[in-house]
Amino acid sequence: MAKPKVAFYWNASCGGCEEAVVDLAEDILKVVEAVDIIFWPVALDFKRSDIEAMDDGEIAVSFINGAIRTEEQEEMVKLLRRKSGLVVAFGSCAHIGGIPGLANFWNRDTIFERAYKEVPSVENPEGIFPRTETQLGNESLTLPEFHNTVRTLGQVIDVDYYLPGCAPPPESIMDAVTAILEGKLPEKGTVLAPDKSLCDTCPRTESKPEKISIKEIKRPHEITPDPEKCFLEEGIICLGPATRSGCGERCINANMPCRGCFGPITGVGDHGARSLSFIASILGLEDEKKMTEEDVQGLIDKIADPAGLFYMYSLPSSLLKRRKMV
Ligand code: SF4
Ligand code: SF4
Repeated sequence: MAKPKVAFYWNASCGGCEEAVVDLAEDILKVVEAVDIIFWPVALDFKRSDIEAMDDGEIAVSFINGAIRTEEQEEMVKLLRRKSGLVVAFGSCAHIGGIPGLANFWNRDTIFERAYKEVPSVENPEGIFPRTETQLGNESLTLPEFHNTVRTLGQVIDVDYYLPGCAPPPESIMDAVTAILEGKLPEKGTVLAPDKSLCDTCPRTESKPEKISIKEIKRPHEITPDPEKCFLEEGIICLGPATRSGCGERCINANMPCRGCFGPITGVGDHGARSLSFIASILGLEDEKKMTEEDVQGLIDKIADPAGLFYMYSLPSSLLKRRKMV
């Protein structure tokens, strides 16, 4: 019997999701035995024309990582959508925008200006920026258009399932592959991770007091956090209360606070706003004194780059989506 065809593709991402597939270690052999990988540009030399030549729906499932930043990425994911029965948004960038989504605090012009002109290692007195078409004698060289705004995969094509995480843990990948192969899939649109917050599964949750009150905000490098204590109790912002569980508490176990790569639990539309409102609700003073505007400002000033912190992984999928540039 013919094996189901599977594709992997990457867009605006760091390559970590591809590493996560390789991290399946010997389990990758089980995957290769059960499916026919027909497209995986990072590892195997298939071409776009191979996909174009396939029938619509011929690929059983495409695992697509990365956010959508360029015209080429948009074309490729639309092509894979057409050729695939199922599409899984693989990893934080495809799911909620991820780190590349932080570029939505700028636009194409400011990014080009910075990357191709201002950085100290660049010498570009004529201000030459990437163009979609460059004439070289009789030849015309083309580049895909760099979009002004980073989008999630679900904002560009219809997505069947979301596998969260930066990167998704190997166990979640194997669970998803097994569920697909056995046809035991949940409702379309499901995020393939437990629908409870990270605090529910965090080993430090016992030390989280009933009523937390942060009187002083500290950054992780300013103290050595007690590995037994909830970060919030130590005044370090942890996004665990607003973040979906399922990562195996990777950062917490490395004595670092959660930064929200698994995105929100179901029903939370804006992960950054939920995190911000949670943290704002637990800011307090010694002896429960009433806070003045100055007290609040003093605490907030201790949060370096609040927008970048609360929307570290989720800006494109937030209500804001991007900064409005004037
Ligand atoms: S806030 Fe962070 S450290 Fe505290 S219990 Fe939740 S996930 Fe764990
Ligand atoms: S602790 Fe938070 S940021 Fe770290 S892997 Fe888990 S969900 Fe992602």
